Amino acid sequence: MSLLIVGTLAFDDIETPSGRVEGEIGGSAGYAALAASFCTKTAIVAVVGEDFPKATLDDLSGRGIDLAGVEHAPGKSFRWSGRYHENLNNRDTLDTQLNVLSSFSPKVPEHLRSAETVFLGNIDPVLQAQVLDQLREPRLVACDSMNLWLDIARPALMRVLERVHLLVVNDEEARLLSGQHNIVRAAHAILKMGPQRVLIKRGEYGVIAFEHGSTFAMPAYPLEEVFDPTGAGDTFAGGCIGSLARDGGRVDAASLRRAIAHGSVLASLVVEKFGMRRLWELSGADIEARRQAFLRLTDFHTI
Ligand code: AMP
Repeated sequence: MSLLIVGTLAFDDIETPSGRVEGEIGGSAGYAALAASFCTKTAIVAVVGEDFPKATLDDLSGRGIDLAGVEHAPGKSFRWSGRYHENLNNRDTLDTQLNVLSSFSPKVPEHLRSAETVFLGNIDPVLQAQVLDQLREPRLVACDSMNLWLDIARPALMRVLERVHLLVVNDEEARLLSGQHNIVRAAHAILKMGPQRVLIKRGEYGVIAFEHGSTFAMPAYPLEEVFDPTGAGDTFAGGCIGSLARDGGRVDAASLRRAIAHGSVLASLVVEKFGMRRLWELSGADIEARRQAFLRLTDFHTI
């Protein structure tokens, strides 16, 4: 198994300027695993309640995603509700119901413990640490988080960061984590917390990757209509880590740039429909067409 992802499988209630949906299937692990599955063999460690549709789990398995680490618990699945502002770069979390997540204690099945690459997707950092504790010797440990966990579980998150090679966060979280408003200063402060690299997602402004001595930036694809930004961050991260896993978990200047480009391509596609709907229907040709569009967008030295 090359990539193990821990995170949430969720019901989302989402309101954007384009419309509203209730009980849309989402969750950090859902988006990230589906995105990563275009590149590599992927497994999920998560918990679902009795209300989670079997058809969705079957569809994920149908994509070759290993669900042996998905626990079925009595009770309701994790539920998140958010409302986007007119500018779509900002959103308010209206409600987070942990439900089965509040008593979850992840168990990584034996055959997944030798995963080479692990993505600690957005979930309680205590659970991220529990997953890490059960793995043998992952080559690459990547991590994402969210303001909720920074607010209620910061010490646990700080301990996880000491064990992480690559952190993926959005600009607001980077500021919250570092106490620095300027994004470059925030990144440098985060690099002192453990990760060797930090990717800062900036919504419609793209992503900046920082490591000691080098910085790389990638724009987001300019779209006429963004239908629903939910999961764009998880999709970016899943696509990015999936690409790195395909490269054997090796992170160098070239593999990181390829990964960031691939994550950006998938993120630009997922926002075109509600929830994970666009990810489900994507073909290799759709991905390649958007990759070519990105190449034209960013090309300033071959023309
Ligand atoms: P993103 O838009 O990439 O930040 O991710 C949105 C997804 O994250 C939604 O599908 C939610 O179900 C999930 N989510 C929201 N809050 C949390 C949280 N505190 N922990 C884990 N997953 C969350």
